[in-house]
Amino acid sequence: MKRVAVCTALVVAVIAAGACSGTTGGGSGGPTSTATPADAKKFMDTVNEALGKLDIEQNQAGWIAENFITDDTEAINAKVTQEVTDAAVRFAKESTKYEKVEVPADLRRQLNLLKLSLVMVTPSDPKEAEELTQITSRMDGMYGKGKWCPDPAKPDACHNIDDITKTLASSRNEAELRRTWEGWHTISPPMRKDYARFVELSNKGARELGFADTGAMWRSKYDMPPDDYSKELDRVWDQVRPLYLELHAYVRSRLRAKYGDIVPEKGPIPAHLLGNIWAQDWSNIYNLAAPEGADPGYSLDDILKKRQPSATDMVRMGERFYTSLGFDPLPKTFWERSLFVRPRDREVVCHASAWDIDMEADVRIKVCLTPTAEDFTTIHHELGHNFYQRAYKSQPMIFRDSANDGFHEAIGDTIALSVTPEYLVKIGLLDKAPDASRDIGLLMTRALEKVSFLPFGLLIDQWRWKVFSGEIKPEDYNKAWWDLRLKYQGVAPPTPRGEEFFDPGAKYHVPDNTPYSRYFLAEILQFQFHRALSKIAGCTTPLHRCSIYESKEAGQRLNAMLSMGLSRPWPEALEALTGSRQMDASAILDYFAPLKTWLDEHTKGLPIGW
Ligand SMILES: [Zn+2]
Repeated sequence: MKRVAVCTALVVAVIAAGACSGTTGGGSGGPTSTATPADAKKFMDTVNEALGKLDIEQNQAGWIAENFITDDTEAINAKVTQEVTDAAVRFAKESTKYEKVEVPADLRRQLNLLKLSLVMVTPSDPKEAEELTQITSRMDGMYGKGKWCPDPAKPDACHNIDDITKTLASSRNEAELRRTWEGWHTISPPMRKDYARFVELSNKGARELGFADTGAMWRSKYDMPPDDYSKELDRVWDQVRPLYLELHAYVRSRLRAKYGDIVPEKGPIPAHLLGNIWAQDWSNIYNLAAPEGADPGYSLDDILKKRQPSATDMVRMGERFYTSLGFDPLPKTFWERSLFVRPRDREVVCHASAWDIDMEADVRIKVCLTPTAEDFTTIHHELGHNFYQRAYKSQPMIFRDSANDGFHEAIGDTIALSVTPEYLVKIGLLDKAPDASRDIGLLMTRALEKVSFLPFGLLIDQWRWKVFSGEIKPEDYNKAWWDLRLKYQGVAPPTPRGEEFFDPGAKYHVPDNTPYSRYFLAEILQFQFHRALSKIAGCTTPLHRCSIYESKEAGQRLNAMLSMGLSRPWPEALEALTGSRQMDASAILDYFAPLKTWLDEHTKGLPIGW
């Protein structure tokens, strides 16, 4: 499945999104040194109630804005978002009054989460707060409107991100790829000065809440000291790095066969040749890397094209996966209120997303389905969000979220890993599953999508954490960026990139200020979840062939974790499902074991690393 960053309409996620306008500490005159545990409880009750109301307003405004795109719905949505973010900062600042009050652990966790759910804190100085808000929306705008105009005299011939994505994915002309890659990176140099100021101001806000800097604030939400979190990610990465290195070596050799000396025999892969603007997903160059004789022998795309299931039929199939695990069917309102097909009479945001409008029962998805294999998987993924949302609906409002921000995405992807040929046979879409000799092609496709992503998923925040802490100075922004891309991904820019550029800004999540390590977590966790659930389901085939479809036991264990929401530290949630409190990337190695054997064979004599 393509990396669709899907928004889940969650209270914390919503609060965390976007910029906060100038709000000062102090709030509504709550108690300070004389605060009692009863005061703290009362405060938190009020907050939970307020969050519940704000969240419904936010979700309703957001839903309408994305389903009926007009200037008015956008304006209403922006206004509500601002109110919600203002309230979030206010609550976080007020919560600091209760830091020294002794309260039960559960209440302490709730109070702490008010601070930890923030992505950016505006400084109390109203002028600085306003400046920060302006900078963030300006950077957002620069990215959103970003276009490459090869000929400034012909503004109609500019390329937007969709055009550029398409060229990077499909062109095999090196010069064209290089021009296009460089073209997209022209959108970000104007952000450079803003970004440096943004770092200063957002750090100031974070320090007012007691964090060392914004990066430390981001790392503090993982139930461990901030520095342990970065070490933990590196530990997990080291587990899977040998597999990445072999994949990298094999792909480099294939690219060298295609493009010649422009691809070094031993050095880093030029970043413009991997089928994606950021070289974060290599599945578009599958045809260059395809193993011989690994055609899976069937095409879900062709099957769906022939059968032409309606969009509702496809969603029903997805729902059946979850009910087969023992989950209750989706409510009537889901079917009445969701959007399944692109409407003909209005503009909508078709990017797939899952929603939980009232944080209780009003779950929905918003997708524009066509009968394709990708959309079939997307359905299973999106419904994962909805079933997670329903599972934790009895928690206090602040706990109605996933155990950490990697878990929500990981659940949808975990279920998508169960969309195997055997599963397709069980639901009657395929007559017979291909034998294991055909698996290398499927595994290669998946590795090009998921294994290739891991180092990228890690390095974005490695760069930002160092930028926020001051270890990377503004005058070294671009050098440090490419140092990290070389270190983790083994890729290099096609042409020298000095400090006149600002290449990190050409990735959405940097100007948009969205933390990124969650995507790395999700990628690791989904395989760990899949392995644990497959074992519970009694699967004895190789891991990549396991599907937990129809396993009530697996469903029960899954639900045990989902229903905890954010109420307990994430290692406990992980334990509830997997029996282990530690993240473990060895599940990825298990999953790709046949591909690893194949790669061992096919990288013999090739240099590994760069
Ligand atoms: Zn998702």
